[in-house]
Amino acid sequence: MVIKLAEQKQKNRARRKNTQPDLDLIAQGVKLIIEGIGEDPNRAGLKGTPHRVAEMYAELTAGMHEDPQQHVIPLPGDKHDEMVIVKDISIASLCEHHLAPFVGKCHIAYIPKGGRILGISKLARLAETFSRRLQLQERLTTDIANTLFDGLKPLGVMVVIEAEHTCMTLRGVRKADAKTVTSAVLGGFRTDPRTRSEAMSLIKGRD
Ligand SMILES: [Zn+2]
Repeated sequence: MVIKLAEQKQKNRARRKNTQPDLDLIAQGVKLIIEGIGEDPNRAGLKGTPHRVAEMYAELTAGMHEDPQQHVIPLPGDKHDEMVIVKDISIASLCEHHLAPFVGKCHIAYIPKGGRILGISKLARLAETFSRRLQLQERLTTDIANTLFDGLKPLGVMVVIEAEHTCMTLRGVRKADAKTVTSAVLGGFRTDPRTRSEAMSLIKGRD
């Protein structure tokens, strides 16, 4: 038994090692960017930058190594059958086309089945696990919806994300404040337009 435990620990350690980002490698890349734009990576203000950026990217992609399904565990005891809407969950993600941040709000609505509901913090954790990866807003939206639908088995799920993409607002067409809105609609929300519009108006209501 003792040996097995030790083996398991070693395996876990190896697994963790594989999933740890290589901070030195990221820092090397950042240093090349600094050189590439014609700056001096050795000047005082930039000395620590490659490693700071490496740590930032590691944090912004930490969700790659988390299992999102772990957050979809119904609350024991509490039962509820009416629509649940959690609005304005802040999300920060990285656009996989530019490695530039996009930030915004995620709204999640679902209709429970058999009274099964999730803790509100779990919904926020689910959104965070998928945000902290290289993403497309469209995929982020459907990933959250599908995982909730598969894990909780509710009657319907609707996820709406509104986000500002810095790759769009800071460069190129420079549409400051432009918001991209995506939605994923599953189950009852898809088949029943009335339920869907009820959820939509609750999400849009800014009270
Ligand atoms: Zn982009």
